[in-house]
Amino acid sequence: MKELAEILLTPEQIAARVQELGAQITKDYQGKNLVVIGILKGALPFMADLIRQIKVPLRYDLMAVSSYGASTKTSGAVQILKDIEMGLEGEDVLVVEDIIDTGLTLNYLLRNLQARHPASLKVCTLLDKPSRREVEITPEYNGFVIPDRFVVGYGLDYAERFRELPMIGVLKPEVYQGK
Ligand code: 5GP
Repeated sequence: MKELAEILLTPEQIAARVQELGAQITKDYQGKNLVVIGILKGALPFMADLIRQIKVPLRYDLMAVSSYGASTKTSGAVQILKDIEMGLEGEDVLVVEDIIDTGLTLNYLLRNLQARHPASLKVCTLLDKPSRREVEITPEYNGFVIPDRFVVGYGLDYAERFRELPMIGVLKPEVYQGK
């Protein structure tokens, strides 16, 4: 990929970790009513791969929230653009995110979902940038802890581009500068 300055995670590394996460989740959710909620658009490839590594019956739904524009900085303002269709009362809910950065998006989302009275509410994120956290959130399942770099690929975008890349990497600075 000519726009990438560096590859942080190869498709093979991602697949191996997704398999481990799926195995852990399978163990933890035996006999439970698992509902997986994927957060659009970034979590889509991760969620699609993860659910096929979870060997307990589950249902899934999708939610879209917005906190970022084309810029790489969070505004902190979260909006629900698309809500899930199923009720969550008494369900064991696992939220699947692409990345936790400041934690503001997830903080808002978890409060919103908690108000729907699930039996349990946990988080599985593919990537975590703990150095940037502004609110205390610790995901129960965490694919990779990464440094404070803006990453793209495997669902993660820059201005809606690069989501389709099979790897996760760091963009060359000239891409931001529109050269
Ligand atoms: P938070 O509210 O935790 O700061 O931000 C979470 C959201 O910001 C993620 O779901 C993602 O959409 C976006 N985000 C945070 N860091 C990155 C990054 O390094 N790359 C990309 N493409 N999006 C990011």
